[in-house]
Amino acid sequence: MPQADTARFLQDLHDLRKIGAFKTGVHRPTYSPQDMESREWLMERMREVGLEPTIDGIGNVFGKHPGPGPHLLAGSHIESQNEAGWLDGALGVVGALAMARAGLPVDVCAFADEEGHFEGGFLGSRSIIGELSEEEIDRSRNRTDGTPLRQALQAAGLAGKPRIQIDPARYKGFFEMHIEQGTQLENAGLQIGVVTGIVAIWQFRLEVIGQQDHAGGTTMAERKDAGLTAMRLLAAIDAEFPRICGERSTWTTGRITLEPGAPSIIPGRADVLFQFRDVSMEVLRRMEDGLRRLVQESNRRERCQTTLHVVARATPALCDAAMMAALDEAAEAHAPGKWQRMPSGAGHDAQYIAKQMPAVMLFVPSIGGISHHWSENTSDEDLALGCQVLVDGAARFLGKA
Ligand SMILES: [Zn+2]
Repeated sequence: MPQADTARFLQDLHDLRKIGAFKTGVHRPTYSPQDMESREWLMERMREVGLEPTIDGIGNVFGKHPGPGPHLLAGSHIESQNEAGWLDGALGVVGALAMARAGLPVDVCAFADEEGHFEGGFLGSRSIIGELSEEEIDRSRNRTDGTPLRQALQAAGLAGKPRIQIDPARYKGFFEMHIEQGTQLENAGLQIGVVTGIVAIWQFRLEVIGQQDHAGGTTMAERKDAGLTAMRLLAAIDAEFPRICGERSTWTTGRITLEPGAPSIIPGRADVLFQFRDVSMEVLRRMEDGLRRLVQESNRRERCQTTLHVVARATPALCDAAMMAALDEAAEAHAPGKWQRMPSGAGHDAQYIAKQMPAVMLFVPSIGGISHHWSENTSDEDLALGCQVLVDGAARFLGKA
């Protein structure tokens, strides 16, 4: 059975942490000098483990396994959010290197801009599956400083390089190790999460129409307060959803805008951005049905009318059953009773790669659940265990265990 060199894996992670170091985390925004330095560092490590590295026209660093297949694909992203953690993304890339070092027939990839520094986000994983057009590259700008993507690619020395696309026929499946970025594992005293799928986000807009009027002259009995109707509807959703949702469903009201938004004017209009997430289409549909029913009830009860607009409905990316089973076995072998299956509430590169081949993710605990912040951390023990389970699980999936 292939052995994971966990000491070397931890050394690589801590070496990578020095590039763009910020407090105990890193600052490596996409295509910044420090991000490009980390991509160069990665290509060196790829050569060391016998892979043939290239960097493509969108910044994907791809290390090709020169030997015979069947092959696996593994990786994650290497850039970070601004002034953020050292493990988000880096873990999956360095874990993939450990798979190659253990002798597994794996191509390793660091997908560019998973973190969405540029409009569109997931540039690398979308590009590599053929879902990023030249027109979108022409249009996209940096969300922080407005720099056009083309200009950033030019400055990073990537302009004119061809973009790599993967041939799904080359691979048996894709592995991505990642930190959990939540507290499920830590709270349950567990060390490994075998990911069942990546949740889909369904987004809606609730538009409530009332009557804008004077806050003193209009009696409580006669007013049509769009703000109050919106609040009562949101409270009703919050009371009803626990009865119809899944075990790990989430729902969020991200923005409430009252118009005109003045202290002495009754709001004539409320605009609410509302979303929910789950890994099951059945649960997602049930939640939408529930939402529609609550809007109807509100419209019967209230003096202000609410219209539900659908903004976006994505499809959950489900993990492959055989790959999950291989990780289950590996987790039980190395951490008996200390693992569980769980969905991912956050988006990851795997959700795009899963469109082209079987895919699975492996989670390790995040201390305090903190991520997208420089204090993000995981114990070396949990990191090393995750690496062991990843390598062992991949080997079992290939039938070599
Ligand atoms: Zn990430």
